[in-house]
Amino acid sequence: MGYLRKFEYKIMQKDSYKIIRNCSGCGCKATYINTNKFRVNANGKYLDVWLIYHCEKCKYTYNLSIYERIKVTDISKIEYEKFLMNDLQFALDYGKDKQLFLKNKADIDWASIDYYIVGDDMNFKKGDYIAIYNPQQLKIRTDRLLANILHIPRSKVKLLERDGTIEIMYNCFEGKIEILIKEEFI
Ligand SMILES: [Zn+2]
Repeated sequence: MGYLRKFEYKIMQKDSYKIIRNCSGCGCKATYINTNKFRVNANGKYLDVWLIYHCEKCKYTYNLSIYERIKVTDISKIEYEKFLMNDLQFALDYGKDKQLFLKNKADIDWASIDYYIVGDDMNFKKGDYIAIYNPQQLKIRTDRLLANILHIPRSKVKLLERDGTIEIMYNCFEGKIEILIKEEFI
């Protein structure tokens, strides 16, 4: 694959995941959000740690299990302190950790995911190669993403792909989208 210039972009998740679940408080399905607080339960030499979510409307809580009955000595003192102090960055990191939600069988609200793009704002031309990395494998609309980066309407993304002006390659395994600009477009 030949190209003249190469540009790289990275998609980053803005906020914690939201969860959709039945809320006992509301009596229907509701959206749960990260309270950015932890609950720590020390029982002898064992420890449980949860990240606390709550219903957006009625504040009914739902705890996501981070650690279950681990030995106090299994985590570092720094980590333990961060849980106790409700360290905000730490809570956000857990709120964006997809594995935590999978482990808890919590339904992520994929429609509400907000992201930002890291990379230079560019005017592209023939011969450019663009790689967009999606390290967290967020489910996002490709046409919206490309419209954003290429500065064109969403409808035009499809047209350009169809007439061969741009070639889009999806590498799902690496969470990467590659675009080759094969003809000038404005
Ligand atoms: Zn509720």
